[in-house]
Amino acid sequence: MERIYIGMGSNLADPAEQLRSAIQALAQLPDSRFAGVSAFYQSDSLLPGQPRYTNAVAAIDSGLEPLELLDALQAIEIDQGRERHERWGPRTLDLDILLFGDRLIDTPRLKVPHYHMQARPFVLYPLAELAPATLTLADGRSLAQLLAECPFVGLERLPHR
Ligand code: ATP
Ligand code: CA
Ligand code: CA
Repeated sequence: MERIYIGMGSNLADPAEQLRSAIQALAQLPDSRFAGVSAFYQSDSLLPGQPRYTNAVAAIDSGLEPLELLDALQAIEIDQGRERHERWGPRTLDLDILLFGDRLIDTPRLKVPHYHMQARPFVLYPLAELAPATLTLADGRSLAQLLAECPFVGLERLPHR
């Protein structure tokens, strides 16, 4: 079993409900154990003209191989009505593999750690609720360092999941 952190986001069709459904689906993954979820956070879209996003991070322990997990996550996205049009377009559900144990993966379909997590407050702050501050990424930087370089700006932590 390896510890895996999954970033979740939605900005269509009742985002909080989308995340709740995604949590249920993650809890049903084969050969896996659900290990927790952060609070929900809201923030403006990185691209103008899109609805606000709701984001969270979930943790699972899994014996799945990385591409098996990616297949399963993409099936959950499609099951919840994800349609791919323009890149970074609005979506009912986005599930990104942030960290997969301490693996470094660089293939066309899958790059882990997720390439932009270091700069995204809506990833780092929920991740910090689940992961130890001493958690270190492949480049040697700790989560604590990344947080120090990523101000809590434009992020609203919601009181309820
Ligand atoms: P961003 O990657 O900037 O967060 P996005 O999540 O909107 O953008 P998608 O359209 O959801 O991008 O994904 C495009 C492709 O990214 C997927 O089809 C998948 O093959 C690939 N991908 C690469 N690394 C990962 C990862 N760590 N987790 C999920 N998908 C990944
Ligand atoms: Ca994403
Ligand atoms: Ca994605």
